[in-house]
Amino acid sequence: MKVEFLGSYREDLPKDHFKEVVFVGRSNVGKSSLINMLVGEPVARVSKEPGRTRSINAFLLEGRIKLVDVPGYGFAKVSKAERESWKRLIESYFRERRQNIRCVFVLIDSKVGPTDLDKLMIEWLRHINIPYKVVLTKTDKASQKELSKSLELLKVVGVNEVIITSAKEGKGKKELYRSILEVVEG
Ligand code: GDP
Repeated sequence: MKVEFLGSYREDLPKDHFKEVVFVGRSNVGKSSLINMLVGEPVARVSKEPGRTRSINAFLLEGRIKLVDVPGYGFAKVSKAERESWKRLIESYFRERRQNIRCVFVLIDSKVGPTDLDKLMIEWLRHINIPYKVVLTKTDKASQKELSKSLELLKVVGVNEVIITSAKEGKGKKELYRSILEVVEG
C-alpha cells in the first residue's frame, strides 16, 4: 500500500479536505503494530514503554485516505495534567475534523476485553454521533475462551460486529482495509 507520513500534531491541525479514519485505543493495545501491519511498513512507532506518544500522527493512504493515529488512553503512570492535555487534544481534534471523519476504529485487546475507558470512548462517540467500529487486537494471545468473553462483554454494550486482528500473525488485514474503503467510499 502506498503510504505517506503527513505529520505529527499537538495543535494547529491541518485544514485539508481528506476523508479520514481514526484509530483510538488504550495505550499498549497494539495500535502502532496494527497500523504497521495495515500499511505494510513500520510507519508507526511500536513502543516498549507504553504511554509515550502524546501527539496525533497522520498518514495518507493511497494518496487519498487520511489515517489518524490518536495517542492511547488509560496509561496508569500518566499525570492528571497529562490526562487533561490528552482530553483537550482529542476534543479539539474531533471538533475541528468532525466533517472529515468517516469512522473511528476503536481498538480493544482481545485478551483484556473492553475496559471502562473503552466503554466510555464508545459511549462518547455515540453521543457525538460519529460512526465507529470495534477492532479486537492481539487475538494470537487470547484463548478461545478469552476471545468469546470479550465478544460477549461487547455485546452487552451493544457492539455486535467486530474486526478480529493479530498484527503478529498478519490476521485481519484485508478485513480492516475493506472496512476502511467501505466507510470512505460508502
Ligand atoms: P500501542 O501502544 O497501542 O501503539 O501498541 P504497540 O503496537 O506499541 O504494541 C504494544 C505491545 O504489544 C508491543 O510489545 C507489541 O509487540 C505487542 N503487540 C502488538 N500487537 C500484537 C499482536 O498482534 N500480538 C502480540 N502477541 N503482541 C502484540
